Amino acid sequence: MADKRDYYEVMGVPKNASEDEIKKAYRKLAKKYHPDLHPGDKVAEEKFKELNEAYEVLSDKEKRTRYDQFGHAGVDPNFGGGAAGGNPFGVDMDFGDIFDSFFGGNPFGGRHSSPNAPRRGSDVEAALVIEFEEAAKGCRKTVAYEKVEACPDCHGSGAKAGTSVKTCPACGGSGQVRVTQNTFMGVVQTTRPCDRCGGTGKVIETPCPTCRGSGHLRKKRTIEINVPAGIDDRQILNVSGQGNAGTNGGPAGDLHLLVNVRPHPLFERKGNDIWCDMPITFMQAALGGEVIVPTLDGKVSYEVREGTQPGDIFKLKGKGVTKLSGRGRGDQYVRMVLEVPKNLTVKQKELLKKFEDSTSEKNYQKRKGFFEKLKKKFGD
Ligand SMILES: [Zn+2]
Ligand SMILES: [Zn+2]
Repeated sequence: MADKRDYYEVMGVPKNASEDEIKKAYRKLAKKYHPDLHPGDKVAEEKFKELNEAYEVLSDKEKRTRYDQFGHAGVDPNFGGGAAGGNPFGVDMDFGDIFDSFFGGNPFGGRHSSPNAPRRGSDVEAALVIEFEEAAKGCRKTVAYEKVEACPDCHGSGAKAGTSVKTCPACGGSGQVRVTQNTFMGVVQTTRPCDRCGGTGKVIETPCPTCRGSGHLRKKRTIEINVPAGIDDRQILNVSGQGNAGTNGGPAGDLHLLVNVRPHPLFERKGNDIWCDMPITFMQAALGGEVIVPTLDGKVSYEVREGTQPGDIFKLKGKGVTKLSGRGRGDQYVRMVLEVPKNLTVKQKELLKKFEDSTSEKNYQKRKGFFEKLKKKFGD
């Protein structure tokens, strides 16, 4: 590292140079040393490399601060803990931006991937509506959706059966053509997508009539899928490889199923637990007794204890939703809701009054406590 020149020196700017000054200096020097302007000139190539390295650091606020503090050690990846990436042309973004603004294109072309490289298909989204119980216990479902598939007649090539796809004569199949331009930096070669083939590198002389040369078709498809027990409303189920077809032999995308769980008339889900309200009568609450509770596994009998209060909650262990991990189930919580009788007959009202007259404070501990607190706080 000892032979490394100071970055400010490389760029010919003072230590307090503004971002603008650094950018300007870079443009000026890039013009001077650009390898396309000095083919085969090793010195220019080295200078250009050095310039880019300096620019990478000085154009990045964070790196520049580190460099100002620690010198090369602060930004050199070989020192550990420094800047990332060992690419000598590591300015990628800024570099591209600058050249884009110069020529409206990237002169190096190397960053374009080949038009014939296999590309993965895009993902497809579809909705899946399932019942509460199906989400809790898992189910098998048929899903209908649309996706892009390779055309069966041309097998994705786009060329009519019996004809073939030709390599583009204009670009030789690369999908790109080199263009020589005269710029203020001199003569510069830039790369552009080939007009003849639209950047694909291929030309189809007789398009397949089925897909009109595109090589793919939109198809309605149905698939059977296993919905795992424990899935919840608004979760996304990923079905691998069932999305749109890839191109040039690339893999298909995925199918994303947005799960929509229908609400249940009795049950409410909270995580893996299920909550429900259990209406009980005044007598059941006072005397206790058997109630029939609905669960995911059918009705179960539960013994309500004497003196149950409205809002009391009891737990049915393991009666909740199967966990997505497959390991065990949540619980069911049953909340007691006291139903006060209405439309009483004269006779019933008399019986209730008689009953009320027979009660005393000791039958109503909560009520007693409430009025005691009230008295303490507000007086009589
Ligand atoms: Zn076709
Ligand atoms: Zn072409």
